[in-house]
Amino acid sequence: MKTNKEYISPILFHSDSSIYVYDDATRLVFPINKNDEIILNTKSIDRITPTESPRLYSLIQRYDLFNRRVSPPTEIKPEDIGMITHNAIEGGLVLHISDACNLKCRYCFFSDEYKHTMSFSKNLMSCATAKAAVDFYITSYMNAIRFNPNLNCAIAFYGGEPLINWDVILYIVDYIKTEYKFAASRIMYAITTNGILLDDQKIKFMLNNRFAISISMDGNSTEHDRNRVGVNNQATHAQVLDAVNRTNFLYKTMLLDNFSILKPGILITYDNVSNLIELDSYFTANPDLDQIVAKVSKVFDHATTYYDNQCSDDINNVYNEQVDYLFDLFEKQGGRIGSSNFLQRFISSFFVSVASSSSFAINPYRGTCLPGQGRIAVDPYGKIHVCEKISRNYSIGNIISGFDNTTQCNMLNIFVETCHNYCKSCSILNLCTLCFASTQSSDPMKFDLPTRNKCKQMKKNASWLLSKQYKLLEKNISVF
Ligand code: SF4
Ligand code: SF4
Repeated sequence: MKTNKEYISPILFHSDSSIYVYDDATRLVFPINKNDEIILNTKSIDRITPTESPRLYSLIQRYDLFNRRVSPPTEIKPEDIGMITHNAIEGGLVLHISDACNLKCRYCFFSDEYKHTMSFSKNLMSCATAKAAVDFYITSYMNAIRFNPNLNCAIAFYGGEPLINWDVILYIVDYIKTEYKFAASRIMYAITTNGILLDDQKIKFMLNNRFAISISMDGNSTEHDRNRVGVNNQATHAQVLDAVNRTNFLYKTMLLDNFSILKPGILITYDNVSNLIELDSYFTANPDLDQIVAKVSKVFDHATTYYDNQCSDDINNVYNEQVDYLFDLFEKQGGRIGSSNFLQRFISSFFVSVASSSSFAINPYRGTCLPGQGRIAVDPYGKIHVCEKISRNYSIGNIISGFDNTTQCNMLNIFVETCHNYCKSCSILNLCTLCFASTQSSDPMKFDLPTRNKCKQMKKNASWLLSKQYKLLEKNISVF
């Protein structure tokens, strides 16, 4: 089968009983036999002959497997960007109302562990800026629902610690009730807080006004107090646990009179040295807490020094053993029905689908959003950013004059071109989750892709992850 095509490598993986191959060019997975595995491991695709394996040969021919077919990127022009932002703001408005925080968590984006992100300061968003941001968002939203009538209307308060700027939260809720009566019943609010400043009055106000309250708490005190500490390194678990319990209690009490209030959630962050098995035991033993676990995620690992002391082989081995153990436990317990909510969220966090990314047609490179499409993230000064996790250098407009279409296009075109040059022959391009935030650099028009070594590691991980997923799929264990 000698051709001029450029082939990518197959990703081979095993379940307990079968061997599979994943082709990133078509995003298809096929079961294969031992002989096919040897052939794919030892021969380039164009040298495989029908006599060696008629089935494998015919699959490759029929589906044109492993043939990347990447054409050079088409430049997006500023006048085309409206198409992107018309049905945009899927993730709503994110108001970054405070650059200040009353804690000093070790893995925080604002900490020195992250090279390119923002830093703590005393800056708070003013009511005037928040009002202008809401006006801009609601106007954009009214445009967008003509294209997508089911679009959610959502405003999230983010920080630093957003409760430090409580007056702005009160002001915005009141402003929307007065000025946007038609939208008030449709708007949902969200807040991510460390919980320290939560009191009954604030909790009741937020629950009564359709806030989804997410509190960051990393499980038991050993895990939580290892990272989520105060400015003098003091433990915070007892205080945060109290805030979580109060919020949960008030939610359950108020739910009896008001079905529309939103369930609060716990956000858990872990790293390479977390005792994941103990975390599962903790939540299993505390069903009231377990019920409201909303998200389990790993400390962000790009452009950071955070993992410098957590990357020895010993640490990685223990981490991998724990993950294996928890996948087996999840399987033994029959999947999400029999497992703790914590375990279900943990397992599902390993399942990533970029195939459904809405940006895929315009940006063939990974699951990143398009600038301005994901959400409108506004900083305390009124500048709009691609997301709340990206450095303040990557502004794509402001709340007075709106999106800067030229900058949006430049950012997208540079990102796509950078990826095209580096990633076009990659065999996990569609599984790679890097995006604007995770490739940010000190130069707003430059994106730092991972080293080749890191990509190699990600490729190894992808095969490991596919094995885990297919083991569960084969046993018909439901994850979501
Ligand atoms: S509470 Fe949030 S913003 Fe404050 S230090 Fe911790 S992670 Fe950072
Ligand atoms: S960044 Fe690396 S792993 Fe990701 S698509 Fe590019 S080459 Fe592949």
